[in-house]
Amino acid sequence: MAVLRVFPHCDIHLTLDNPATRSISFTVFQLLNAVGPYTLSPITNTCTPRYFAPHATVGSRLQRFANVDVTTGTITATGIGTNLVILETADTYIVIRIQVHQNILAWWFGNEKITTAQDPIYAHSQPSIYAMFSDDTTGTDRVGDITGHNFVRLSSGDTTILADPNSDGRIRGVAEGETDLEGSFLSITETIDVRVINYAQTRNILEPVKFGDMPNAANIHNILFVAEGFTAADEAKFDQIVTQVSTDLFLKQRHEPYGTLSSSINVFKAFTASNDRLVTCGFQVADNQISALSKGTPIPYEHKVSGDNYLVSELVRRVGLPMRGEDRNVRDLKDLWNSQGLNNFDDAKVSIRLVNAWKNSHSLGFLETRDTFFGMILGSRWADNNSTLGAPLAAVANDDDSAPLKAFVKRAYTFYSGKKAARSITMDPRRHPPELLFGDSRATSFMSFVGGLGAAAPNQTLGSAWVPDGTFKKSRGLIAMISNEHMHAGTNLNSSTLTANTINQDALLNATYVPNPNANIKKLRRDVPDNLSPSLDAMINTVAHEFGHSFNLGDEYEEFVEYSNFATERLNPSDTTSNFFDNYDNIASLEVIFDDANYLTNNSREIDPSKLKWNILPRIKLSAKLTSATQMNGGNLEVTVNSREANSWEAIRVAGDEVHLRRIVMQTDQGQQLPLSMTAADLLTGLTIVSVDESNGTIVLSSAGTLVPSPSFPEGASLYVPLKIAGVMQNVIEDKVFTELVSSKLPLNKDTDTSAVSKKADFPHRISDFKPPCQSARLVGLFEGGATWTGLVYRPAGTCKMRTSSGGEEHGEFCYVCKWLITNRVDPGKHHVIHTNFYPVAKKNE
Ligand SMILES: [Zn+2]
Repeated sequence: MAVLRVFPHCDIHLTLDNPATRSISFTVFQLLNAVGPYTLSPITNTCTPRYFAPHATVGSRLQRFANVDVTTGTITATGIGTNLVILETADTYIVIRIQVHQNILAWWFGNEKITTAQDPIYAHSQPSIYAMFSDDTTGTDRVGDITGHNFVRLSSGDTTILADPNSDGRIRGVAEGETDLEGSFLSITETIDVRVINYAQTRNILEPVKFGDMPNAANIHNILFVAEGFTAADEAKFDQIVTQVSTDLFLKQRHEPYGTLSSSINVFKAFTASNDRLVTCGFQVADNQISALSKGTPIPYEHKVSGDNYLVSELVRRVGLPMRGEDRNVRDLKDLWNSQGLNNFDDAKVSIRLVNAWKNSHSLGFLETRDTFFGMILGSRWADNNSTLGAPLAAVANDDDSAPLKAFVKRAYTFYSGKKAARSITMDPRRHPPELLFGDSRATSFMSFVGGLGAAAPNQTLGSAWVPDGTFKKSRGLIAMISNEHMHAGTNLNSSTLTANTINQDALLNATYVPNPNANIKKLRRDVPDNLSPSLDAMINTVAHEFGHSFNLGDEYEEFVEYSNFATERLNPSDTTSNFFDNYDNIASLEVIFDDANYLTNNSREIDPSKLKWNILPRIKLSAKLTSATQMNGGNLEVTVNSREANSWEAIRVAGDEVHLRRIVMQTDQGQQLPLSMTAADLLTGLTIVSVDESNGTIVLSSAGTLVPSPSFPEGASLYVPLKIAGVMQNVIEDKVFTELVSSKLPLNKDTDTSAVSKKADFPHRISDFKPPCQSARLVGLFEGGATWTGLVYRPAGTCKMRTSSGGEEHGEFCYVCKWLITNRVDPGKHHVIHTNFYPVAKKNE
């Protein structure tokens, strides 16, 4: 799978008049190596550029304003206007935008100061550079992002601390210390302060917050809180947040099973100070106030401004960004958009208010970067485009209404859709070099920092417990980075190795243009709110939900409507790259649970519940975790559990209940557990207890079958008694619910509408001869809608923390399947506690 990067970036600005800015060098790289650090392999000359002019009139949109020469790696301006250029390889494409202006008037740094990493090889940080261009009649932007364009000459103030920047404007720290970086161009000279940090050094700053089993920390699950955007003066505030989050996480029922599993989870924190409060925002914000869209809203805005219409961002994905000065009325714009061959555009979802908000998706400024310790970013820049898998498209001869033209338009417009939403928070590609920032990010300065963390004995070297290395690690992904930022964001990032959360839920910010004697220099600086006090409850909900992803749980909420080709494009068994849904333990898609193998051609939505991976999870009457590996004792199997639990097992012996023994298997380094292995090596059934030694917890088991070859189960394996009713083993799906699924071949949703996104809990339809639990949305079975889609993707229950983490006490809990999975991974000896306290038992059924 080829992953492409474009240097300097994907949002290029050139001018016709100034020879120094008429052309630039560019390179298309492919990331090599399975894990970081990655090798950047130049493949520019294997790319085919294809030009599209989104703002030109229909019929003339294949014209070029620049020439992309893949042989020399040069882009040269040829006319004034905007092109989207698709760079295609044999199996991948990436879209860049090129704006050609008449002239460049001024430039400035987008950073006041910047922190970067000491590194013998890689230049980590890339200061942002912005420019003001002439007021052209073509509707090109006045300000542009010329970072890495090599127009501005950069030099280090002290090369013993900071090497001189490379041609992409990236800076490499040589030794810890502070210096400055100077830039000059167009008779403008600016400097910014640079701080170099050695992230990889040992730091014994891990502090215990909650004690689960500290001496045994290396063998159990550990949570780590780190600070981003907190200054040295904010340390007490960080401490207070961590204490409250940790307390609530383990105390409140809505966050179970964390509380039940408390003795198997330690919590640590490690504080480091940032130079600035807040974190960097990659998006621009509206700098003009209109009724439909406030000043300070991210571009594009991820919310609705009216009724059943598109979100502003959905409209931008379909029609692109407005030209500067766009003043056509709604009727004219709808006519235009209907004539442009746009993908999946429905003018019934466009209102006057929405169009006004869309027109305001424009700004004269870029927000100045915040200088934080780890270099996180909210949302992303237009420059930060990613590549997409896809074979080259058929040639397009004319800008007509043909099928090839529509496919071409669809691909070109992915420039407007490939971005991270404003509410996501990830590592900033201008603080983390492309050689390190991909996949599980094990090579990043952040993970170097974590790997160097230690505490007092016996946890001097605990940091490595959180650093991915390709094997399953219990603490993997249990890092909560708390960002001192009021804009709403919560993300599980870098292949589930890190969660990042902000402390408030705001959707807009305040920023002010910094006065400058040169009126063409438009620095836009965020105002730091006086009182950045956290919304703790909402934050804790987010942390608990994001950790769910680290337990290999997918989102159970809906964000997008299932579209007409959804099954063909996403659930096609012949395309192994299209379906990641089923890797999550709590998500199933039609591709796996179909009843009719021809579902792609006959649109059958019927499901086969026997293919459902959570169907066989047992309800558990009693469980224990083995404290040592099994041994053979004569012809019997000997296991050991905590002696304090032994009397419960004596009662099982007396009752003669059947006992099972299960190896806890993580199939991937990300902790995938389902489908459960049912082989004899991983699951022994039909065991009965011969004797229990209550003094040392030793239990001798005999088997109905032969124990040949000798079973071998490790410490930590799960010994359990499956719950039986009238001699029949009970699974998490009640028998009558399963029977209903078998006979209907349909999910349980009472509300079967998949044409609209539902954010709410789903309730089950009536099941004959069965009364669901009191809060019927908790019923375990199969519900449609999940992994952000409304249809053909399924989840176990009507409500779950992975669907909605907010809401009253009755919502916001994990569903029973998610609780089972987390319990099985953290402490399978607690299955019966979870079952007794939280299984949503059906009402008494006559
Ligand atoms: Zn769930």
